[in-house]
Amino acid sequence: MSWTYTVRQQCVLILGLTVCSAVTRLSRAGPLDPLTLAVHVYNYAAVRAEILVHAEQHAAEVFLRAGIILAWIDCPLSPSEVDNYPACKPGAASSTATLKTLNETMAAGYGLPFSKYGVTIQHHASFVFCERAHDLANRNDLSEPVVLGQIIAHELGHLVLGEGAHSDSGIMKEDLYVKDFRQAEKGRPLNFSAEQAQRIQARILEGVAVVPSAHVGIHGHKR
Ligand SMILES: [Zn+2]
Repeated sequence: MSWTYTVRQQCVLILGLTVCSAVTRLSRAGPLDPLTLAVHVYNYAAVRAEILVHAEQHAAEVFLRAGIILAWIDCPLSPSEVDNYPACKPGAASSTATLKTLNETMAAGYGLPFSKYGVTIQHHASFVFCERAHDLANRNDLSEPVVLGQIIAHELGHLVLGEGAHSDSGIMKEDLYVKDFRQAEKGRPLNFSAEQAQRIQARILEGVAVVPSAHVGIHGHKR
């Protein structure tokens, strides 16, 4: 069975061009664009929908600039909910990634300093530490969805780029700063480089399937 997605059109102005993103959720049978990355979302931190959806939109815009459509798929948090999430099954898209939102109790389990806002375990999943993102946004009067969205884009970037993904500039900078989020609020988010975009597109076309597997390595990030 194949899947398509309901498209909630969102347009942004990039270098004078209007680009519309398919900020979306998988829902029913049909074909997917070959450059679609399906992201299975496990919202363990219970981030409010209006914040999470806007953060997803922000992350989707970053990936769209790299030529990739992100399709968000809500996933169950317990076995009893599985039947309520029919789209969250293997095979919905050839390329899939897993994103998990964690509260502070869960985040603390990784033993990373409070200055770390996310972690990615290669070949497994990206995790975002939502309470830390919330606090960072509050302390600096920043948009929480923008902060969370940039962190999500960075961590998913690790999943699709693989090891050694950091760069000196752009969304894959090792450290993201308040000024970076401030620029993103003004419509100038950090993006993938042209070379990174090419690598991501190649990986997506190969059918990157980031599914739970043995632990390979933890990568934390300081903001
Ligand atoms: Zn990183």
